[in-house]
Amino acid sequence: MTPEIITSPTNPLVKSLRALDRKKARSETGLFLAEGARLVEQGLTRGWQAETVLVSQTAQGRDYVSAIMEKAAAAGSRIVEAPERLISKITQKDNPQTVIAAFRQKHRALNDLTATKTGLWIALHEVRDPGNLGTILRTADCAGASGVILLETCCDPYSVETVRASMGSIFDTPFANATFDAFGAWRSHQGARMVAASVNGTVRHDRIDMTGPTVILMGNEQAGLPDTVEAACDDLALIPMRGGADSLNLAQAAAIMTYEAWRQRGFA
Ligand code: SAM
Repeated sequence: MTPEIITSPTNPLVKSLRALDRKKARSETGLFLAEGARLVEQGLTRGWQAETVLVSQTAQGRDYVSAIMEKAAAAGSRIVEAPERLISKITQKDNPQTVIAAFRQKHRALNDLTATKTGLWIALHEVRDPGNLGTILRTADCAGASGVILLETCCDPYSVETVRASMGSIFDTPFANATFDAFGAWRSHQGARMVAASVNGTVRHDRIDMTGPTVILMGNEQAGLPDTVEAACDDLALIPMRGGADSLNLAQAAAIMTYEAWRQRGFA
């Protein structure tokens, strides 16, 4: 297939893709940027809609790039070829990827996370670090969790940093935003136990039964979980610590909790 060719840094497409590093532009357009052939291929394969796929001139003719272009064109994407310097300008990287794409965001409701796979969810209360969020989406994917719930005001799952850190799991892990109240009603309906991980925990994390439907609740990077939220949980889990640090990193604590739940289920 023959792509459209752009060469000028003032081309409006360069400006609009470059703007996707800002929340405002992502909200207005409903798009987000995925960088790298593997990631773009994964998004297309999972049925996400790529509005635009941009390939570098130097990568033209490579088999995997041609395959991506064919797949994207068949799904109705705009296919564009550009010199590497323009991709550098969009992604602000000296050594840019050979393929980038603007995908359409998906916004799921809590009910879309219902009763899939394992009945194990991770809920994040006001997570603020995009790297942590991306890493947790990846952990949820690796452990086959049913989804990630973003409670109250969290960072944007479609930011460039989150998408990068998720290493493709943005396309595989379902996630939804919710208020704590809406989440409470949904959780009761699921009959799921709510296990909060907290430095105020009263029970060691591996002594809590997480074999049934379970939501693992994690707190904000600075403030942890509000007292009212901790009071509403079935269990407060403490991951043991030695040494001087007052807590583990959020994404690492989420991984320990999630893998403990999966271990209890025999890594099935
Ligand atoms: N200063 C905060 C506090 O008092 O909670 C530390 C927050 S910590 C960086 C972020 C989140 O990771 C916590 O809210 C909790 O969910 C989890 N976490 C970190 N270390 C933990 C531990 N040892 N046991 C259980 N959860 C932990």
